[in-house]
Amino acid sequence: MRLAVLKETKAGESRVAATPETAKKLIALGLTVAVEAGAGLASGFPDAEYAAAGAEVAPDAAAALAGAKIVFCVRAPDAPLPSGTLLIGTLAADADAVAGYAQGGIEACSMELAPRITRAQSMDVLSSQANLAGYRAVIEAAGVFDRGFPMLMTAAGTIPAANAFIMGAGVAGLQAIATARRLGGRVSATDVRPAAKEEIKSLGASFVGYEDEESKSAQTAGGYAKQLSADFYARQAEVVAAHIAKQDVVVCTALVQGRRAPILVTEAMVASMKPGSVIVDIASDAGGNCAATVPGQMITTPNGVKVLGFTNWPGRIPAAASALYARNLLTFLTTFWDKEAKAPKLPPEDDIVVGVTLTRGGAVVHKNFLPATA
Ligand code: NAD
Repeated sequence: MRLAVLKETKAGESRVAATPETAKKLIALGLTVAVEAGAGLASGFPDAEYAAAGAEVAPDAAAALAGAKIVFCVRAPDAPLPSGTLLIGTLAADADAVAGYAQGGIEACSMELAPRITRAQSMDVLSSQANLAGYRAVIEAAGVFDRGFPMLMTAAGTIPAANAFIMGAGVAGLQAIATARRLGGRVSATDVRPAAKEEIKSLGASFVGYEDEESKSAQTAGGYAKQLSADFYARQAEVVAAHIAKQDVVVCTALVQGRRAPILVTEAMVASMKPGSVIVDIASDAGGNCAATVPGQMITTPNGVKVLGFTNWPGRIPAAASALYARNLLTFLTTFWDKEAKAPKLPPEDDIVVGVTLTRGGAVVHKNFLPATA
């Protein structure tokens, strides 16, 4: 059976869905792996490394796809896929394409919808990518911050440590806390889920936030934050406003699944910050947590605050992001691999399969994408 790995076509997408390492393991499963020429270049994986791993390097997408039954991608491919293809990637953001997969007879699996259960941890693309995004956010903040993170005691005098405030302490935020601490910053963080408070403290950061009866149940059964009331957000804003005015670096990571990211840093809060301060908004793909964020850009506000609103933060650390993403996809396929038939076998009743499958047998089957019946 042939598996194709295409060169990503979406603007700014630097990742690739298989690395030479995972290509080799896919071949060991009994697959023929065809990689479109140049697919790994932006992540630092040249064609020759795929060839050395045993993959066929195809000159273009059509050649890679010829006869392929499985396609690995990061984001939805533009190339037309033959009916019967099993397409595995992160597809849910492109909701308009889902009906087309069904019509085209494609079995589409969107890995960012995998349930947050122990069995799915090693295929959890949200976690693998958010972890790197959190790291990269702090590194980029340090790169544009005009002072430095650690306290520097020199013969010429002392430079104080940077105050860094991490908003949202999920996977990305916890890595941002750890990275800012490693750089020597004085780190604080906030979240709405009660469990996050202990995690923040266990990483050596201080907790700054608002808690009440409502926030005691701020976490869904799936582990995500719930959308909370306007009253809660107003009180949270009151608590963090005074704190933000004293920060050198603010890293925004807060998300509420399926919704626009909450605005946690208002224009007034940005205006209260010192010139030279930095806000990094890795929630920008979901609209951003900062009112001054311009998705895809770094801007400097009139009071001299740099706001980094770049999108696709994992793509800014592409070799590591691709390595982990590719392993997530490999683990998914290996978990649902019929060794005798040397073919994938996705039991429709399996929790993980139910979670990720968008379309099957010519129909949309995922609850989030079913056509409205009313
Ligand atoms: P996420 O990316 O959806 O959100 C990031 C963070 O923003 C979350 O911690 C959320 O609580 C926070 N947030 C939302 N609104 C906020 C607000 N108004 N103010 C401050 N913070 C706000 O979340 P995530 O990083 O994907 O993970 C969320 C949880 O799932 C974590 O507890 C994580 O440990 C857990 N998780 C479990 C598994 C597993 O069991 N397999 C895997 C991955 C993650």
